[in-house]
Amino acid sequence: MKEDKRADYISWDEYFMGVAQLAACRSKDPGTQVGACIVSPEHKILSMGYNGFPMGCSDDEYPWCREGEDNKYLYVAHSELNAILNYRGGSLEGTTIYVTLFPCNECAKAIIQSGIKEVVYDCDKYADQKNTICSKRMLKSAGVVLRKYERTGRKISIEL
Ligand code: ZN
Repeated sequence: MKEDKRADYISWDEYFMGVAQLAACRSKDPGTQVGACIVSPEHKILSMGYNGFPMGCSDDEYPWCREGEDNKYLYVAHSELNAILNYRGGSLEGTTIYVTLFPCNECAKAIIQSGIKEVVYDCDKYADQKNTICSKRMLKSAGVVLRKYERTGRKISIEL
């Protein structure tokens, strides 16, 4: 007798947003942890990233504070930029990026120029801020599809 396939497997969207969330867990930023996952049209994961300092810039030497003359904004690379730059396999033309937070205007430029054609985002809590408004303006002008991730409420616990 043939067994039926499992019915409770996770969807592609849950899979890739879950992977982006897992990547965010790697961030040392005490304020905001963001993760990104770039996927090919064939549903293959090409790259991942999270917000952090560039290679060689120690998390113990560079500042994680938000204010003051020397602050994290001067040094941190966002998850989307890291995911784009981490990919060394060639072109990202026609791919989709899953992000846990809507991309800022600087990441939008990198997304557009790298040929990514769709952004699937979860949180959009800075929607009213100028940099998010400008980001959406550029992404729309460039024909990048913006799709809000639909949370399913599924909870997965993983023992590590
Ligand atoms: Zn950004």
